[in-house]
Amino acid sequence: MGFKQRERKRKAKAAQQGSQLAARESGSSAGKWWLTVVVEDCCCAQCGRVLRVGREMVYRHTPREARCMGCAERDQGCRWRPSLSWERAGKGKRKAAAPGRRMAG
Ligand SMILES: [Zn+2]
Repeated sequence: MGFKQRERKRKAKAAQQGSQLAARESGSSAGKWWLTVVVEDCCCAQCGRVLRVGREMVYRHTPREARCMGCAERDQGCRWRPSLSWERAGKGKRKAAAPGRRMAG
């Protein structure tokens, strides 16, 4: 593979990653729900349950709203996707590590 070909591939990849980040940080992510980790104690806008730091919640930036997982799952129109911070916290790996185990509560 020649240098120019490699360079083109590298640039295409960089552009793709850049646009993904931009979409997350700019207005195009507005109105979408994200599965994320609570960084500041707050409460669910639906049921009022306290969302503690370190727990998971579903969050929408605009208009701003935080929900507990239970309320997000009950709402058919609320389709979230894992946020970067959730992925970084390694939350996605937990289920694979302990299959079939359920915590009470
Ligand atoms: Zn709730």
